[in-house]
Amino acid sequence: MRLLLWDIDGTLLSTSGAGIRALEASMAAEFNSGNPVDLSDIDWAGRTDRWIARTIFEKYGVEHTSANVNRLLNGYLERLPRHLEELTRALPGVREILAEADKRSDIVQGLLTGNLARGAATKLSHFDLWDYFPFGAFSDDSAVRNDLGPYALERAATHSGHTFDPRDVWIIGDTPRDIECGKVIGARTLAVATGHHSMRELQQHAPDQAVANFEVTDSFWEIVTS
Ligand SMILES: [Mg+2]
Repeated sequence: MRLLLWDIDGTLLSTSGAGIRALEASMAAEFNSGNPVDLSDIDWAGRTDRWIARTIFEKYGVEHTSANVNRLLNGYLERLPRHLEELTRALPGVREILAEADKRSDIVQGLLTGNLARGAATKLSHFDLWDYFPFGAFSDDSAVRNDLGPYALERAATHSGHTFDPRDVWIIGDTPRDIECGKVIGARTLAVATGHHSMRELQQHAPDQAVANFEVTDSFWEIVTS
């Protein structure tokens, strides 16, 4: 049995900044009197939504209370669908791989993502991909991405009735932070260069495997079942 834990942005979907546009719109409306907000300088790739919220508040001098975080993130979730419409697509090969994984009895799959659960559902439902994921670990669990692995492992065990050896777990993502969060739980890491990082940059962080994309689905299966 193998467990696949998927990142979303840059890995399953090319979101082209749809999430950040929705956050900018929420921040502008809720905390900046409707004046434009520019979050292009925030190093958000591979971060959790709750970490990003804190960083935005630091930049704009907004008090970091849970009420303010909820206000910003609820505004973000409300605005996300219209930004997804314009900017997002499922990356090549992803649909085929998720469908096959769903059919195979030797594969269990879930999410390990910095998205809020509701944001993940909004993004993936938009492409009819949400139902492939019976469980996940999300930014709702922790603002720190490296904390998310144990939540995902626990939910995988509850869902499947099988306790996974970390060496049978693949953390799949497009950033050095995905690689790091796999390493902290002793899982194997598959990096994919469909986000903002090149193969070369990803390889500097020593993932177990790195691929340019998932277009050749046979190569994907060779790696994760090896
Ligand atoms: Mg990502």
